Amino acid sequence: MAHYLLSAEANFSAAHTLPGVEMCDRLHGHNWRVRLTVRVEEDSLSKTSMGVDFRVIEDIAKSTVADFEHQYLNDLEPFKGYTPSAERLAKVICSRARDRLIAAGQNAAIDQIEVWEMPQYRVVYRP
Ligand SMILES: [Zn+2]
Repeated sequence: MAHYLLSAEANFSAAHTLPGVEMCDRLHGHNWRVRLTVRVEEDSLSKTSMGVDFRVIEDIAKSTVADFEHQYLNDLEPFKGYTPSAERLAKVICSRARDRLIAAGQNAAIDQIEVWEMPQYRVVYRP
């Protein structure tokens, strides 16, 4: 079915270690880039022909990662028992963004979360 995909991005800087992964097991940081993409069905557009206001998507993206800013990810609750890889980060962000999208009462669904840990390295998570 025809639909729209709308995206907004957020950034944060945080450190992690990936135990058992050569070189990545050293403490290091990334300037993480996150893109939240939501899906809006074509017949769900508002009277103003919009799906979800970009500012709403941006607010969700930013608030979803705000408490990761300048943190050591391994110590944070969402990563307890997990390695805070880009993959795991994408999944956690997806879960948080979904809750916020529902709370915002938007007629949209999470399509995918993209996480860059470096400009050339990106993970895509599709729920
Ligand atoms: Zn890393």
